[in-house]
Amino acid sequence: MSNYYIKTNRTFTGIRRYGWLFTILVAVGGLWAPKLGLLVILIMLSLMITSFFTGRYWCGNYCPHGSLFDRIAMPVSLNRKIPEFLKSKYMITGFFIFFMFSFSIRIINALKSWGSHDFLDKLGFVFVTTYLMVLITGGLAAVFINPRTWCQFCPMGTIQKFTHKLGKISGITEKTEKKVTIEDKTKCLACGKCSRVCPFQLTPYLQFGEDNQFHDVNCIKCGTCVENCPVNVLSLKTKEDAIYMTKNGENKYQIEI
Ligand code: SF4
Ligand code: SF4
Repeated sequence: MSNYYIKTNRTFTGIRRYGWLFTILVAVGGLWAPKLGLLVILIMLSLMITSFFTGRYWCGNYCPHGSLFDRIAMPVSLNRKIPEFLKSKYMITGFFIFFMFSFSIRIINALKSWGSHDFLDKLGFVFVTTYLMVLITGGLAAVFINPRTWCQFCPMGTIQKFTHKLGKISGITEKTEKKVTIEDKTKCLACGKCSRVCPFQLTPYLQFGEDNQFHDVNCIKCGTCVENCPVNVLSLKTKEDAIYMTKNGENKYQIEI
């Protein structure tokens, strides 16, 4: 039986094509130079900031592990359907608690050597081993199930969803978040290609709201569906631009140029 899900290029920018080198640098290079692990602190801060404004955009556009899964693992991946239990709130919550508990213990142990000459090495090594664990676990799941299997319950994804919620409560994401938007629902062929190429196996064509936008919090705004829609009716738009397009049937920026 042929596979419903299609492998297609998802790495449209230099960061998405080569971000995986950062993963190798930290997860493998860090075994010899543990301070490299401290760079992960910047990654964590960055993903919290971007998610406040635009949800899981980080996962689809900047994440070094995401780049590894999409660029390196995908060509050899079995590209199967991601099991539902890996997407369930029990898995997501349970894994988050387990991860944070063990991560915190290791950070506290590293902090005990505060003031010693190897303090930064010990602290960095906690991040290096975490990065290596994700590379191995996420990499195996990427090959034997689907490239973005790990991302379904990744604790960094869970943190982003939490920060995104804060952005929504503040009313800021309404102005800054770009969501998959359909120009006109009547133009959709219901071919399902947007779903078949989606790294998260989401179904935008079945879930556009009254405002023609796709509101799934797990959308990583990777643009793969936009690139692959055969009738070219999808784009990533803010709420304001989506309303404008729905009312006027055209892209506001095309008119202004
Ligand atoms: S790929 Fe385009 S035409 Fe096909 S179902 Fe999705 S939105 Fe509709
Ligand atoms: S719905 Fe589109 S933009 Fe969102 S994750 Fe799927 S392919 Fe990427």
